[in-house]
Amino acid sequence: MANFKTLDDLGADLSGQVALVRVDLNLPMKDGSATDVTRVEAAKPTILELADRGAKVLLLAHFGRPKGARNSTMSTSMVQGDVERVIGREIMFIPEVSGPVAQQAIGILRDGDIGLMDNVRFWPGEEKNDPEFAKGIAALGDFYVNDAFSAAHRAHASTEGLAHLLPAYAGRSMEQELKALDAALGSPTPPVAAVVGGAKVSSKLAVLENLVGKVQHLIIGGGMANTFLAARGVDVGKSLCEHDLTDTANAILAKADESGCTVHLPYDVVVAKEFAANPPSMRVCNVHEVAADEMILDVGPLAVEALGDVLKTCRTLVWNGPMGAFETAPFDAATVALARTAAALTKEGSLVSVAGGGDTVAALNHAGVAGDFTYISTAGGAFLEWMEGKQLPGVVALQA
Ligand code: ADP
Ligand code: MG
Repeated sequence: MANFKTLDDLGADLSGQVALVRVDLNLPMKDGSATDVTRVEAAKPTILELADRGAKVLLLAHFGRPKGARNSTMSTSMVQGDVERVIGREIMFIPEVSGPVAQQAIGILRDGDIGLMDNVRFWPGEEKNDPEFAKGIAALGDFYVNDAFSAAHRAHASTEGLAHLLPAYAGRSMEQELKALDAALGSPTPPVAAVVGGAKVSSKLAVLENLVGKVQHLIIGGGMANTFLAARGVDVGKSLCEHDLTDTANAILAKADESGCTVHLPYDVVVAKEFAANPPSMRVCNVHEVAADEMILDVGPLAVEALGDVLKTCRTLVWNGPMGAFETAPFDAATVALARTAAALTKEGSLVSVAGGGDTVAALNHAGVAGDFTYISTAGGAFLEWMEGKQLPGVVALQA
């Protein structure tokens, strides 16, 4: 695994030093408070560890898309209360990210105190990764810690530029994420299975292309399986299907063949004439028996059982995308059943399981097994880019 420094590489006593810590505080909000504080919880160990080792901790984050200008509704002060509650300490809000006002505020902080700087995207230099802007921030601190893997696919001043200007370290959450992702696709124990589902092939083409060259088993479910079935000459009726991508689907299947990757498509499916909860027209059938007025909404029970058997032969699993339209009962059945099999194998110690993706995390929570996976990434876009095999600028900069 490529090398990066962690908090273990810092001195035990950090008193008198100022830590610039990039965290993800882009919380979903309703009526002025956060509806989900998972991101704060993720950053909590790093913040407390640095503070308890005596550093002045300066939090740096973006919040919404203010497009390079101040905007009172997108100030990080909006989440100050939520952050204080989760961290369990008082935090000083600093309405700048550089300059004399910020310097003065830092002068007031004592060792072990925490400051929250304003939305770094209020300044155009952030998204432009302007070195002059980054220098202004860097002047405030003695070292830089990046604990926001979810923003690591962006080459911005606070996610990438700062790492070149100050001694740079991965925070605990970043460290954990990088280790888990490495165990899943970087240097995994074979055989490796990938489950890829979700609505459309078009949104995950690069993911599929990367995976067929890396894993031994590619399990395709969800709406995107329909496009692959259609490419193989199956009539998928009214199903969600990207007919214009059948050539692309065939090219992916050919590449899989060359790479020794077995692609698993469903052979039985759950279909209905209308998309609603428990529709009367619902039935299970072979993929070759879908009627012209039916749509495929989930993978069938026989295929799910066979896929469970595939997972039993594997040592590593990486999962993105639900197997069916899981938000609507009972089209969650395949996703829930396969997730439970993966969770049980993980608990037995025979499988390392890593999953990510907005709807995937929701589906695994719905199945009640999120806690049983080896690692669940909440990083969204960064997780998908990593699944595409891309180098993430924020991670590369930590390795420099
Ligand atoms: P993630 O957010 O985890 O990356 P996606 O956004 O790619 O996942 O896909 C999730 C969506 O795919 C869900 O809203 C789900 O309802 C939809 N979906 C899955 N299977 C089907 C299907 N057979 N037909 C229509 N939609 C589907
Ligand atoms: Mg999604």
